[in-house]
Amino acid sequence: MYKLLNTLLAALLLMHGAAQAQTPQQALKTQKKVLLLMGTRFELVAVSEDEQLSNKAIEAGIAEIQRIEALISEWQPTSQTSAINRSAGGMAVSVDEELYELIRRSLRISELTGGAFDISWAAADKVWKFDGSMKTLPDSQTVTNSIRHIGYNKIQLIPETHSVYLQEQGMKIGFGAIGKGYAANRARDVMRKMGIRSGVVNAAGDLITWGKQADGQPWYIGIADPAEKDKVFSWLTADHTAIVTSGSYEKFAEIGGKRYAHIIDPRTGYPATGLKSVTIICPDAELADALATATMVLGREEGLYLINQLKGVECLMITDQDEMVTSENLHLHYYQNKPQPVKAAIPAKTSKM
Ligand code: ADP
Ligand code: MG
Repeated sequence: MYKLLNTLLAALLLMHGAAQAQTPQQALKTQKKVLLLMGTRFELVAVSEDEQLSNKAIEAGIAEIQRIEALISEWQPTSQTSAINRSAGGMAVSVDEELYELIRRSLRISELTGGAFDISWAAADKVWKFDGSMKTLPDSQTVTNSIRHIGYNKIQLIPETHSVYLQEQGMKIGFGAIGKGYAANRARDVMRKMGIRSGVVNAAGDLITWGKQADGQPWYIGIADPAEKDKVFSWLTADHTAIVTSGSYEKFAEIGGKRYAHIIDPRTGYPATGLKSVTIICPDAELADALATATMVLGREEGLYLINQLKGVECLMITDQDEMVTSENLHLHYYQNKPQPVKAAIPAKTSKM
């Protein structure tokens, strides 16, 4: 555990050295594109010998993310998710296998996390505002009422017809805590299938990498302090890894000097408190996304207990007291105040972002 002063956490992707590469792989080139998708700044990176192929793959990755957004968004009235929500308490809605499976996996994560992660949290999405406009707590009766229609065990899946039924009127599902991770996985799959051996799909710091950089080095992920954006205090090397952060540093409500994250504890109706951020590191961006949200809800003790049980899943938390807590097998490379390479293989210029 390390005491950090005034730090907030963000994962920043570092891509460096590619232009200086003098390795046998020097024919490899890096293409990237940044754009707004799912209301988030997405960056897609492709490494290959063939620039044209890279650009085509990036466009295909973008199209895949847009396709997924149209399918799962609870905001777009034409999406299948909206159809499910409109029919809550009325009838089952037959959906594409893809959405059906996403819901099935979401329910499994709800079970794994004791309901801390729950896509039916959305029944309570009118109570809290996390845009800075909320100055007082809602009254406790309103909060208690808001969870009446939350409950993943009231989401019924009917395999024969690929249908989804929300058992009560007033129920609603939303994929805000898992959708970006799912989309990142899928965009990676599409790009890989097109022959892109390595790359990154990065949704505002929630990212998945595969392969290595053009110069043969692994992707380095700097864990940075947004208060001092240029300062990386530690590193992770990422090879076929997703790194996803949930936290209260972006969207939150501050009421009575206390910070409330835009993540609701489905069991109480109150926002998660206690942790500023949770970063999950595992091979699967969808799982990482959902577990980051769940760990915010579970808090330091319970969250850490859960992550330590899960093989191949690691975490790094920053508490409201700016303490850093990591899971048992997380290996960070420290690169603190003095700019010195952590490993001989990492040049000092890697501190440039
Ligand atoms: P971000 O969107 O900032 O990456 P998260 O992945 O943690 O953060 O997702 C938070 C979003 O998930 C919220 O804005 C909301 O849409 C939804 N959500 C809030 N609480 C829960 C919960 N307990 N379980 C599942 N989804 C939630
Ligand atoms: Mg999440």
